[in-house]
Amino acid sequence: MSFVTHLECANCGKQFTAGQPHNLCTDCQRPLWVRYDLDAVKSAFPRERLAKRPADLWRYRELLPYADPANVVSLGETMTPILSTPRLGAELGLGNLLFKDESRLPTGSFKARGMALAITMANEFGIRRVACPTAGNAGGAMAAYASRAGMESYVFMPDDTPVINMKETHLAGATVVRVNGLINDCGRLVGEGRELMGWFDLSTLKEPYRIEGKKTMGLELA
Ligand SMILES: [Zn+2]
Repeated sequence: MSFVTHLECANCGKQFTAGQPHNLCTDCQRPLWVRYDLDAVKSAFPRERLAKRPADLWRYRELLPYADPANVVSLGETMTPILSTPRLGAELGLGNLLFKDESRLPTGSFKARGMALAITMANEFGIRRVACPTAGNAGGAMAAYASRAGMESYVFMPDDTPVINMKETHLAGATVVRVNGLINDCGRLVGEGRELMGWFDLSTLKEPYRIEGKKTMGLELA
C-alpha cells in the first residue's frame, strides 16, 4: 500500500487519480505533485523506527509513491555522506562549507534518486519503454534503471553532449540518438515519438515521480 491520496497540479490545483501514469496537467500543461495523507503517515510510522532501517533511499517508503514493494527497481541507493571541506571553505571565505557527496549513488549522481523512483513507478504501471532528452548524466541513470527493470530506453542527446555521457548511456543499455540541435529539440523529439514509438516520456518535471526520488536528499538532511 502507499499513503498517496492523489496528484495535484502545482499551478492550477487540478486533482488527478493516483495509480495510473501521468505526465503534465491536462488543463495547463504544468508539473504535477504527488500528495500524501501525512496524518496517516504520522500515526503509522514512529520516527524512531527509521534508525533501524537500512541506510538507503527506500527507508522513507511511507513517503514514496509506489504501492507494491515488489515493483521497486533498485541498484543500491545508499544514503550519501556529508563531507566537510575546510580548505575550499577558507578559500571562499566560508566558515563551515559542507558537501553532500551524491557521487556515491549508482551512476554517480543525484539523478539516480529520481530515476530509481520514476522507473519503479513505470514498472508498477506496466510501462516497458521509456525515453528522455538530456545533455548530461540523467541519460545514464535512466538507462541503468530501465535495464535493471528489463525495459527498453531511448535517450536523445544534443550533438555537443560530453562523449563520456553518451558512452555511459549506451553502455547502460539505452538506444542513444545524437541530435543536431539543442536540448529543447531533443525534448520535442521525445514528445513527438510518444505515439509513434509508444514510449513513456521521463523528461524532468514532465512526469511526477523523478522529483519524489530527488526529495529523499532533503529527507536525509532533515
Ligand atoms: Zn494545471
